[in-house]
Amino acid sequence: VDLDAGLGPAYGGLTQRLRSMLSWSGSSADAVGTLVRTHRAIHSGADAAALRRAYGIAEDKHRGQLRKSGEPYITHPLAVAQILAELGMDTITLVAALLHDTVEDTTYTLEALDRDFGAEVAYLVDGVTKFDKVFYGQDAEAETIRKMIISAGRDVRVLIIKLADRVHNMRTLDARSAASRRRIASATQDVLVPLCDRLGVQLLKRDLEDAVLFHLEPEAYARIHEHVQNRPDWTAYLDEVAGQARVALRRQKVDTTVRPRPRHYYTIWKDTVAGGHPVPFDPPRIAVVVDGPETDCYTALGAIHGLWRPVAGRFKDFIASPKNNLYRSLHTTVIGPQERSVEVLIRTEAMHRAAEYGIAVYYRFPKANAAQAAADRADELAWLRRVLDWQQETPRATEFLESLRGDLAESQIQVIAEGRTVMLPAGATPVDVAYELSTEIGDCCVGAKVNGRYAPLSAPLDEGDVIEIVIEDGTPGDSDSARGPLREWLDFVKSPHAQMQINRWFTDHNEPTITIANKVKLGRAAIGLALRRYSRGLASDAPLRQLAAELGYPDLETLLVSVADRKVPADTLVDRLIAQVDQRPQR
Ligand code: MN
Repeated sequence: VDLDAGLGPAYGGLTQRLRSMLSWSGSSADAVGTLVRTHRAIHSGADAAALRRAYGIAEDKHRGQLRKSGEPYITHPLAVAQILAELGMDTITLVAALLHDTVEDTTYTLEALDRDFGAEVAYLVDGVTKFDKVFYGQDAEAETIRKMIISAGRDVRVLIIKLADRVHNMRTLDARSAASRRRIASATQDVLVPLCDRLGVQLLKRDLEDAVLFHLEPEAYARIHEHVQNRPDWTAYLDEVAGQARVALRRQKVDTTVRPRPRHYYTIWKDTVAGGHPVPFDPPRIAVVVDGPETDCYTALGAIHGLWRPVAGRFKDFIASPKNNLYRSLHTTVIGPQERSVEVLIRTEAMHRAAEYGIAVYYRFPKANAAQAAADRADELAWLRRVLDWQQETPRATEFLESLRGDLAESQIQVIAEGRTVMLPAGATPVDVAYELSTEIGDCCVGAKVNGRYAPLSAPLDEGDVIEIVIEDGTPGDSDSARGPLREWLDFVKSPHAQMQINRWFTDHNEPTITIANKVKLGRAAIGLALRRYSRGLASDAPLRQLAAELGYPDLETLLVSVADRKVPADTLVDRLIAQVDQRPQR
């Protein structure tokens, strides 16, 4: 059972949401007024003029364009901005959201955007702008995702806008054909939901998951909707539970807010299916938010366990051991009134905010100490940095997307090594840990101790294991005598980072006998890396072949060998390539 949904109002059911979306009327002149009010309710000093100006340009540029639903196109960027305003994002993000489809779908250029709204807004819009299918072909989608991830490395707001964009597209998916509904819903489930989870933004994740369920499992969705709407005595029971809990907590002198905490449809469905329950599985749940220090959570736990008998094995301490997305709370299940199981979440106000808003918490509640906030944010984005590391060494976007999907699908484990916490894909081995610590340690590792006992380098690790890496007693600094990795490690390592590092070692150590075929590969990789710096990629060899001909090479292979031999700098080629194929200004 997963209790990790944040606090907040129950998801009202997608049909209701859809209805409210359809009630938008094109003549509503105050559409941007609602956005401004929502934004200013959270950020009182916000610049409303910037929002109105952005809306004006977006409305003008998209004029005449319609959504598949028949509504004016501007309803979409406006709704995306509204979602982000409710999340508490800053003005720059909302301006970028209003304009997010202009460069892709209208005559507005990035240059104009930069001139009219500044580099920050232009950067965010560029980050969510899709690559052109004409140039990138089948790789366009993969290249687009890679560009978005790279852009998010410098400014995570790119990803937050993309998530809000998808939330609105999912809400309005009804207007699409059955085939595109399934395709978009599946892609959302594969990539965007896990990304949202990694960023910890529960508020959007609930919406995305329920919309995915609605489109992929319509019958299950209807059944759960029916169940949620018709639970006898549900509200009265939750009120009774919350009331009794408040009394017990007050007796222990802990200051708390106690609220019913319903699950969203997707969680109910998952627990029902996973547990093999014939009827939707949805035990009552309350959240206790403590107004005080972290230690008060344990006092509150004592009060709850003193009131109702805890169910053995159901207590989880995500405060002492936070989840991978830094979610923190105490979870327990108790036997409540009428002998019914009740789930209880206990957390401080700060933990509650973090659970609900995830990475967006830094924008919704800006800290006075900007440097500290940036450091905290960087900490939370360790996962993203890891992805950026290995993406640099994946020349093709489709490969990158495959690794990313794998990484997102894998559950993550945390282990301890050299006194720090290391996050790895489930099933990772001591070799993965060694490469995570450093390339040198990876290259020289010969053995490992897991929880104090010797273990094979291929041993799959468990959550919380303490790892000690044993390295070879070679001559320090003499890298030639280092044994280096073994090829069979590639059969068991789990993290893309370790795979890349091992491959790199073999590439580096084969250089003296390098074949023409390998030179062609190397040249191609060098061009790929140079393109990466512009967040670009190549879907086919056609532009390169054309360039090779222009430069007087007999064929593409000869050009690639020259690049590998460093006779032609990859950067120069890439500059020409971009000039050749790109009409749009690039940043
Ligand atoms: Mn959009």
